[in-house]
Amino acid sequence: GQQRAPDFVAGLNAEQRLAVETTEGPVLVLAGAGTGKTRVLTTRIAHILSSGKAWPSQILAVTFTNKAAREMKERIGLLVGEQIEGMPWLGTFHSIGVKMLRKHAELVGLKNTFTILDTDDQIRLLKQVIQAEGLDDKRWTAKTLAGLIDGWKNKALGPDAIPEGDARSFGNGKGRELYRAYQRRLIELNATDFGDLLLHPIAIFRNHADVLAEYHRRFRYILVDEYQDTNVAQYLWLRLLAQRPDGSDVNLCCVGDDDQSIYGWRGAEVDNILRFEKDFPGATVIRLERNYRSTEHILAAASSLIANNESRLGKTLFTDIADPDAERVKVHASWDSEEEARAIGEEIEALQTKGEKLNDIAILVRASFQMREFEERFVTLGLPYRVIGGPRFYERKEIRDAMAYFRVVAQPADDLAFERIVNVPKRGIGDTSVRLIHDTARARQCPMLQAAADLVGTDEVKGKTRSSLREVVENFRRWSQALESTPHVELAESILEESGYIDMWKADKSAEAAGRLDNLKELIEAMGEYESLRAFLEHVALVMDNSDDAEIDAVSVMTLHSAKGLEFDTVFLPGMEEGLFPHQRSMDEGGRAGLEEERRLAYVGVTRARRNLHIWFASNRRIHGLWQSTIPSRFVDELPEAHVEVMEASNSYGGYGAGGFGERGGYGASRFDRMEPFGSSYGSPGWQRAQRNKNDATRENWGGRSGMGVSSRVERIGYGEPE
Ligand code: ATP
Ligand code: MG
Repeated sequence: GQQRAPDFVAGLNAEQRLAVETTEGPVLVLAGAGTGKTRVLTTRIAHILSSGKAWPSQILAVTFTNKAAREMKERIGLLVGEQIEGMPWLGTFHSIGVKMLRKHAELVGLKNTFTILDTDDQIRLLKQVIQAEGLDDKRWTAKTLAGLIDGWKNKALGPDAIPEGDARSFGNGKGRELYRAYQRRLIELNATDFGDLLLHPIAIFRNHADVLAEYHRRFRYILVDEYQDTNVAQYLWLRLLAQRPDGSDVNLCCVGDDDQSIYGWRGAEVDNILRFEKDFPGATVIRLERNYRSTEHILAAASSLIANNESRLGKTLFTDIADPDAERVKVHASWDSEEEARAIGEEIEALQTKGEKLNDIAILVRASFQMREFEERFVTLGLPYRVIGGPRFYERKEIRDAMAYFRVVAQPADDLAFERIVNVPKRGIGDTSVRLIHDTARARQCPMLQAAADLVGTDEVKGKTRSSLREVVENFRRWSQALESTPHVELAESILEESGYIDMWKADKSAEAAGRLDNLKELIEAMGEYESLRAFLEHVALVMDNSDDAEIDAVSVMTLHSAKGLEFDTVFLPGMEEGLFPHQRSMDEGGRAGLEEERRLAYVGVTRARRNLHIWFASNRRIHGLWQSTIPSRFVDELPEAHVEVMEASNSYGGYGAGGFGERGGYGASRFDRMEPFGSSYGSPGWQRAQRNKNDATRENWGGRSGMGVSSRVERIGYGEPE
């Protein structure tokens, strides 16, 4: 019969086609959002497979997330017309790294059954290492050391390679010894941390030419998506695999966008893009300029925004999606974050009524604490939603921990909650003691808290464990007594303070700790909307019951960082305020570079939208538990007026609605004076009391809020608003 190879390149533009068909030699596709980079990679693999240039097992393809890997596999299958089972080397850097390490574990002294430590295990191990060196682990914390080691590993530096200054900075100059001891312990435990998943393979490639040669023979094509976010270790790993000693390079194709580099804080280096042509001489560099994703308004917004960054390679984007009905980017103002969530909820319901799929709608937030208000609004409205790239608000570790404390106070027989936090923060009540409490409770048929109280009076527990347990028991007794007499928000704050739980996160130097503290503040604030601790606990139990199902049509809620590579018809970007976005912390810590990374993040957000983009800012926001009046983000100012429509505020309390957007120019230089830096309030003792007084004052000023009109649906369900 007349068998023709399927025409994969049909429908691709000339540059895309070039990127797909230039299969031999190094290729760098450097192009803006939505220009089809990922599509090019997928098509390129399909083309290589179907033209018989390589078997699936001879192709190494790196994606940024496991989800992206699954999707790519699926699409290749569709293109090639069969289920692709055998793309064993398509995955993230980490998943490919594990696979390689399992094959050659013994070369670095591991068995192929090695385990991968999670962060908690890693910290516990580091603490032992610090203590074994005779150092005070309060002064030299395991968290700090973990951060240092991660940083070194991102740069592919083993203990012998770290700079002298770095080595001296920690543990009275013992940084290097500690790192070395940690690596030794990992091997003894037959374990690795995440960094090792690339570091060990790099060491193996360097020390065992035969192994590397085997991979050089195996891989004929290497492809990398989101190349702008690779770190030094990933880059070295790639280069080792791609450069053969005889000078015949494996055919490497990387696609990326310098304007979407958003993981600088995790060690990613945009410079890898610039080095590509140097390291792979004769590389074909292809630029894609036609955007297939978004309307001209959205593209214009993205381009004008990112043009404010100085350090960029510079690209142009255009679209042929000439749609006279395309809507301009809509900018909305709200009074506060609650109104923001309410209004966005209504907008989504309206879209749904018009027949839009919820799957095509996303809310992208800068900081995870912003999610809570949306999640609760959606639960109230009965709108299905899913949180991508992280747990939902009430499923977060710190929230569950805090809730466990509250549950034991409200319900002393809640053994599950008790078990969760009896030794969080660590207070020397180890597994053996917990088992003893558990068994005692079983034997006496009483709650664990009661059993613990009984045990304190015996000599079945001793020393530090005993005094810790006594403190726990007495704390809970006191808090339970206060339950009826103390306002519940105040009580909740005291519990988190007095238990040492807040301090635990304050002492934590990991990247997520600050976000966790924000979430705890948000939790406390949320409680204020309920009349008692019990009412709040009941509410959360109901929210938690809203179980997720991947199959259902649902709105996506996620952070901007996890939105990379995705696209939606309608995108909401709430919280576009100075201090939140750009985030104050990034500006404080990163200066101009920090601000530019924030702007790239905004660019990623804007370019996720296909047809409709809604930008929101509130004039009041609770930041670190403190109501602040805020001003619109500079990123809003950077949008091109001709492509933006400023929406009238939907209610009557003035603000931005009436005065309009144009007047904001008046903020001038002084506009930032009103911002209080993030984090400043947390360090100060007694923040709660001082802030609460302020909060109360602010709340009272809200008297006029009745003008907002509570949606009738909310009233019908019976969720009372505090009026
Ligand atoms: P990002 O930088 O956000 O990751 P990208 O460059 O990877 O974007 P893709 O996700 O590959 O872009 O493509 C964006 C959208 O445009 C997708 O829906 C894709 O299917 C579509 N697209 C890409 N190229 C073409 C084309 N030649 N014809 C029609 N649609 C295309
Ligand atoms: Mg992509």
